[in-house]
Amino acid sequence: MGDNFDAVIIGGGACGLMCAVQAGYLEKRTLILEKNEKIGAKILISGGGRCNYTNLYASESNFISGNPHFSKSAFSQFTIEDTISFFEANGILGKEKTLGQLFPLSNNAKDIVRVFESLCADLDQQIICNADVKDVLKMEEGDFKISYSRAGKLKEIRVPKVVIATGGLPVQKMGATDFGLRVARQFGLKITDTAPALVPLTITGKDAEWYAQLSGNSIFSRVSNDRISFEENILFTHWGLSGPAILQISSYWRPGEHISIDLLPNDSITELIQTQKLINGRKSLSGLLSDLFTKKFADALAKFLPVEKNLASLSKEDIQKIDQYIHHFDVKPAGDKGYDKAEVMRGGVATDELSSKTLEAKKVPGLYFGGECVDVTGWLGGYNFQWAWSAGFVIAQNI
Ligand SMILES: Cc1cc2nc3c(=O)[nH]c(=O)nc-3n(C[C@H](O)[C@H](O)[C@H](O)COP(=O)(O)OP(=O)(O)OC[C@H]3O[C@@H](n4cnc5c(N)ncnc54)[C@H](O)[C@@H]3O)c2cc1C
Repeated sequence: MGDNFDAVIIGGGACGLMCAVQAGYLEKRTLILEKNEKIGAKILISGGGRCNYTNLYASESNFISGNPHFSKSAFSQFTIEDTISFFEANGILGKEKTLGQLFPLSNNAKDIVRVFESLCADLDQQIICNADVKDVLKMEEGDFKISYSRAGKLKEIRVPKVVIATGGLPVQKMGATDFGLRVARQFGLKITDTAPALVPLTITGKDAEWYAQLSGNSIFSRVSNDRISFEENILFTHWGLSGPAILQISSYWRPGEHISIDLLPNDSITELIQTQKLINGRKSLSGLLSDLFTKKFADALAKFLPVEKNLASLSKEDIQKIDQYIHHFDVKPAGDKGYDKAEVMRGGVATDELSSKTLEAKKVPGLYFGGECVDVTGWLGGYNFQWAWSAGFVIAQNI
């Protein structure tokens, strides 16, 4: 193969595709090597097939990283407005769903992938799919030798620069590999411990059956630990807890820790009891809880609370206990559902190994890391794609 590419981009996901297109605008030639049959597998399944491609309110405070300031430079070089303009210029109008989450007006993630397919073709950026990259070696001459297997054959290509955009560990069947982490280790770069993030949490032990019986119930809540809190829905499942608020806190949860759930974040149950008592003291606690929650959830609270008592007969201790359960429901998850159910990986290539301005490895000139394989992990809601687009743009300026 004619090796006259400015760079090889390993991984045809969000970061790699944006990198190729932006390099094309600068009249650089890149080659994307993608292991899957098609590019953009995760874009296609993201946001339930609708692709939440950015968040109007994204800033570095919505990301977890060993260095919370690391992503600032990339976000200032390719901003949310740049993302919106880029997609608008290519026919994708966005609509905000909730909390700043932007989706294509068409509600179709395929439209996002089509933008990259057509731009890569127009800008003469080459894509080879079914190309499983095995190895990246730095040669004495300073360039890189990349080996990949395709249709049972091992092929090699030499280029001056390499972009590792191979994503994180979640969802192996979508093509996820540890390739980025392996290459980083091979070149002596540190890795920040990795773990599933934006992932449902499991409950085992004596309360497991109680959670399972509530499967399907969704409740707007505030979920907290001593570092952060999120207000969104939680969802009871057969094996524990999911829903946006749980996925968000999971990124900040460590095994063995408790989380606290306020099941009624916009009211005070104590005040509601006091007011309702004056109107109708014979109303049962169960009746009041049914006004606030689904009947099934209100009934299930009988496991912990004196639901049959009249409001007028509740003692001070009863009310304290009710307040504690409703506003500080304590959960000790047994674990998480693992990489197959996680939306993203926490940790990755340590940020102090990379230049925040160029995303080049400080110790290995010509080697760049972007997207999920880097220790920059966004919240739920379009933040992770914004990081992937910004990182792809930044790398394209420098390869
Ligand atoms: C179910 C689900 C829903 C999501 N929804 C959203 C959402 O709505 N909004 C949002 O912001 N984020 C969402 N995310 C997260 C988002 O998809 C990722 O953060 C983002 O795709 C990361 O981009 P990336 O380019 O770094 O990696 P990826 O998009 O994962 O791309 C990496 C590519 O590299 C390829 N690859 C890996 N190893 C090799 C190798 N050795 N050789 C060749 N190719 C290789 C992979 O096949 C893959 O195509 C979701 C994730 C999941 C799992």
